Amino acid sequence: MRKFIIVSLLAGIFLAGCNQKTEMKNPFLADYNTPFNVPPFHLIQEDHYLPSFKEAMIQEKADIDAILNIQEPPDFNNTIVAFDNSGELMRKVSGVFYRITGANTNPNLQAIARELTPLLSAHNNSIRLNEQLFEKIKAVYDKRHDLNLDVEQMRLVEKIYNDFARNGAALPPEQRDKLKQINERLSLVSLQLGENLLAETNDFKLVIDNTDDLAGLPDEVISAAADEAKQIDMEGKWVFTLQKPSWIPFLQYSERRELREKLYRGYFMRGDNDNENDNKALFAELLKLRDERSKMLGFENYAAFSTSDNMAKTPGNVYDFLLKVWDPALKIAKQERDEMQKIIDREGGNFKLASWDWWYYAEKVRKEKFDLNDDELKPYFTKDNVRNGVFNLCERLYGLTFKQHHDIPVYHEEVEVYEIFDNDGSHLGLLYMDNYPRPGKRAGAWCGTFRNGSYENGKKIYPIVTIVTNFARPVGDKPPMWTWDEVTTYFHEFGHGLHNLFADGHYRRTSRDVPRDFVELPSQVLENWAGEPEILKTYALHYETGEPIPDELINKLKESSHFNQGFATSEYIAAAILDMDYHTMDISGDLDIRALENASMKKLGLIDEIIPRYRTTYFSHIFSGGYAAGYYVYLWAGVLDADAFEAFKESGDVFNPELASLFRKHILAENSLGEGMEQYVKFRGKEPSIDPLLRQRGLK
Ligand SMILES: [Zn+2]
Repeated sequence: MRKFIIVSLLAGIFLAGCNQKTEMKNPFLADYNTPFNVPPFHLIQEDHYLPSFKEAMIQEKADIDAILNIQEPPDFNNTIVAFDNSGELMRKVSGVFYRITGANTNPNLQAIARELTPLLSAHNNSIRLNEQLFEKIKAVYDKRHDLNLDVEQMRLVEKIYNDFARNGAALPPEQRDKLKQINERLSLVSLQLGENLLAETNDFKLVIDNTDDLAGLPDEVISAAADEAKQIDMEGKWVFTLQKPSWIPFLQYSERRELREKLYRGYFMRGDNDNENDNKALFAELLKLRDERSKMLGFENYAAFSTSDNMAKTPGNVYDFLLKVWDPALKIAKQERDEMQKIIDREGGNFKLASWDWWYYAEKVRKEKFDLNDDELKPYFTKDNVRNGVFNLCERLYGLTFKQHHDIPVYHEEVEVYEIFDNDGSHLGLLYMDNYPRPGKRAGAWCGTFRNGSYENGKKIYPIVTIVTNFARPVGDKPPMWTWDEVTTYFHEFGHGLHNLFADGHYRRTSRDVPRDFVELPSQVLENWAGEPEILKTYALHYETGEPIPDELINKLKESSHFNQGFATSEYIAAAILDMDYHTMDISGDLDIRALENASMKKLGLIDEIIPRYRTTYFSHIFSGGYAAGYYVYLWAGVLDADAFEAFKESGDVFNPELASLFRKHILAENSLGEGMEQYVKFRGKEPSIDPLLRQRGLK
C-alpha cells in the first residue's frame, strides 16, 4: 500500500513536470516562426489544445474588460474596432482545432471538443449578454451618423449592434428573461424533434424474405440489403431502410409496386404516425415560440426576422422569386409525369402513376434518353487534370498563378500545399488540399480557413485556405480518376476558396460576414465553368491517350443535366414554400399541422404525384438545421450563379477579364461593403433574371 502511494506521488510529479514542459513549448502561445506564419503542425500536440483554449478565453475576457475600463466616452476605435479585434488567440487556436477535428480527428480530439463545447458556450454568452458592453456599442451606434464613418465602418457598427440586438440585448431586463426562457424551450423542442425523427427513421424496416420480391434490383443493391439484414440478426433475409442509399435504389429498380409504396410510405410518414415519436404537436409549439420571439424583437413574424439579415431582405421577395420559378418547373414536371404515364400504359400497367412510382419510371426515362455512365467519363478526369483545369481557369479569369511547396508543415502527409500569386506576382495566400477519404475525416467536401485574410495596423494578414474532400484514391498503378459529381464539387469548393482568398474587408466582421443566401454564389458559379465545352477541351484529357474529351460525351453531359429537373425543382420549391408559409402565417389559434401542410400545398397547386421534398414532420432543415424561413437559399443561389455566368456568355467570352475583375471586386472582395443585391447589381448592372437558371435546368 505504502509503496503504491509513493509510486503514484512520483507519477503525479512526473505528470506535473510534463505539463509544464508542454505548456512551455505550446506553439499556440508563441510566435509560429514558420514559413508564411502557417500553423506549426509538426510541433502541435493534442494536449496543447485545451490549455490554449483556456488561455484564449482568459485573454479574450481581458480584451473585453479593457474596453469596459476605458474612461473616455465610447467611440468607433475604442469600442467597435477594439471589439472587432478582441480574441486574437481564440482565432488562432480555433482556426486550427476545428479544421483538424473535421479533417483528421480521433477519440482524443473528440473528447477535447466535448469538454470545450460548454466552456466556450458559457464564455461566448458572457460576452454576448454583457450589458455594459452592449451599452457602449449602443452609444456608438446611436451617434453613428455624426462620426464621419466611411461605408465599411458604418456597416461594421451596424453589424455588431445588430448581432447583439438580435439576441435581445436591447430589450428591458424582464423581457430579456422571457427571451431566455423561450430560447431554452426552443432548443429543447428542436432537439426533441430531431430525436423523434431519428427514431422514426431507424424504426422502419422493409424486410424481404423471398427472392421474388427482389425482382428488378441490381446485384449490389441486393447484397447491401443482405448485409443490412445480417447486422440485425436476420441473416438470409433482405432489409431496406429509410437511409438514402437504401430507399432510393429500391424505388428506382424494384418491380414490386406494392413494396415501393410500403417503403415510400414509411419514408414520407415519418413523425406523422400519431405515436410517441409524432412531431406534429412539437412542431406547432416550435412555430409559436419562434413567432413570439420574433415579435418581441420587433418583427412581424419569424420569416421577417430571418430574411432581414439575408440578401432577400423580406419574405415577400422570397415568395416572388420562388413563385416565378414554380410555374415553369411545374409545367415540366407535368410533362415528365405524362411521359411516364405513357410508359405505364405502353407496358399495359393499367394504373395511374403515384408518388411511389416516380423514381422507378424516371429511371426508365433516364435509360432511354439520358444514359451516361460515369465510367465513360472518368478517364478524362484524373486528379491532376481537374486540378490543372481549376488552376488554368483561375489564371485566365484572374491572372492567378500557383506554386506547390514541399517544405511547409502539414497535418497529414497526403495534404498538398500551394502558394497562390496575384496577377501582379504578389503573394495572395496559401491553399491546403486534402483529397482522399480516411478514418477520422468527416464525410463530404468543404472549404475552410486556418487563418482569415485581414489587416493589422494597416498591414495585410494573408489567408490560409483549406479544401477537404473525400474523392476516390488511385487504384493500382492508375492515377486517381473522379466522377463528374466529384469534378463539379472540386470546382465548387474552389469557388469558396477564391472567396476566402480575395475577401478584402478592413475589419474582421466586414471581411467574413456573408449572408446565407449569398454564400453559395461564389462556389456554384465556378461549377458552370467546369462543364463549359471550351474549358473541358483544355483539361479533360484522356489519361492514356491525352485526347481531349469528345463532343459526343460533352453533349451527353449537357443533356443529362436536364433529366428529371421538373420534378427536382418542383419538390424543392414545394418544401421551400411550406417553410415560408409556416413562418409567415397567423398562428394564434390551435394548429393542425397536417391540415396546414395540405392547405399550403393545395394553394400552391402541387400535383398528387409529387410530395414536397420534406414534409413538415421530417423537415429537419427548418426544425433543427438553422434553415428556418431559409430553405429557399439553395435555389436563390442557383439563380444568382446561373445569371452571373450568363454575363460572361453574353459578352462572347467566358473568360472575359473585365467581368472577372468586376466579379472579384464586388462579389468576392467587397461583398460586405453593401447589401447583397447592391453588390450584385454593381457587378451585373442589373438584378438577376431567372431565365438562365430555367435554361440551365431545361425548364425553358
Ligand atoms: Zn458550398
